[in-house]
Amino acid sequence: MKIESLGVKTFRHKTNTVRDSDGHGHPGPESDSTSAVLTITTDTGDTGHILTRPSDLAEPILDRFVRPNLIGQDPLCTDKLWYKVYKWQRLSGGLLNDRVLAAVNLALWDLKGKATGQPVWKLLGGHRDKILAYGSTMCGDDLENGLATPGDYARFADWLINTRGYKAMKLHGWMPPVPGAPDPRMDYQACAAVREAVGPDVPLMLDPHHFYSRTDTLWLANKLAELDFRWMEEPMEEASISSYKWLTQNTALNILGPETMTGKHWTRAEWVKHDACDLVRAGVWDVGGIDPAMKIANMAESFHMSCEMHGTGAANLTVACAIANTSFYERGLLHPFIDYDKPKEYQNRIDDEMDADGYVHARPDPGLGQDLNWDYIEANLV
Ligand code: MG
Repeated sequence: MKIESLGVKTFRHKTNTVRDSDGHGHPGPESDSTSAVLTITTDTGDTGHILTRPSDLAEPILDRFVRPNLIGQDPLCTDKLWYKVYKWQRLSGGLLNDRVLAAVNLALWDLKGKATGQPVWKLLGGHRDKILAYGSTMCGDDLENGLATPGDYARFADWLINTRGYKAMKLHGWMPPVPGAPDPRMDYQACAAVREAVGPDVPLMLDPHHFYSRTDTLWLANKLAELDFRWMEEPMEEASISSYKWLTQNTALNILGPETMTGKHWTRAEWVKHDACDLVRAGVWDVGGIDPAMKIANMAESFHMSCEMHGTGAANLTVACAIANTSFYERGLLHPFIDYDKPKEYQNRIDDEMDADGYVHARPDPGLGQDLNWDYIEANLV
């Protein structure tokens, strides 16, 4: 089996998410957006797909760095092909980023699953066929009855846990340009209101403003430890390993990271070596795909550390179900105004349907478990 072609389909669809001036998503009026699907096809007619942002699949990048390394190669050798493309990163002038590596790697894994007739979570180890989700909220806002006050967070938490069936929840706090943000005291008030609403036994986490000082971060961490929070993630710039080493030494709260820091599995190993985190973060889109994410998970397991997958979607769910050392799947982002369970126009179903007990089930279908509406995509090509 040899790779014959890589093709991209970019298509229009509606979105209800608007971006604020700092890039955070909030509910808003319906508007137009675009997404793209990468398809890798072999000489045997097998295909693999991945849905992503059009910017991850720019034709000049694929032509220059990806197609020359993949065409004619065996698509099942995912790690070998990852290295072939990765080695071009250094001299690409920043053009070949980790999201491009991830898109190519995920499409190859989808192909491997479909060609072998197996779901990818089983090919990777198949540790569990379902996993508890935590409800991951959008950032705070200033929308009436949205996520504008500690009471709003508490009301939404009550619905997530006691009505929708989530067994755990993570708050994203208020961030600029929301008036008054950033303020660790505001974050704490929302966390305290949620703890009060859901009781002492529900695992809670916080993802606050990402640019706090050490002293603001330490104050917030110690207050969250009093509320028995499970972890806090990314309260400071992650390039500063020393700051995270200092933080973990000075607080009882568990710190999860790094999430957005570049450097793939190599950065995560450095964080572990330097005791800069208590739990290790990996997200397939942050670290360049499934192959590097599995290296991170295996490295963390060897140090008796949990590896928590960052972000939603079929590929992160796949890794979470493949490995032993993880506790939750991140499901979101959620908001009182958004119906997360409703498929988008380009999906036949969402990637991560959740049952009434708070479990997301690994898909039995071959591949990554995406179910795209090809009729919609073909009818809305850009
Ligand atoms: Mg995060």
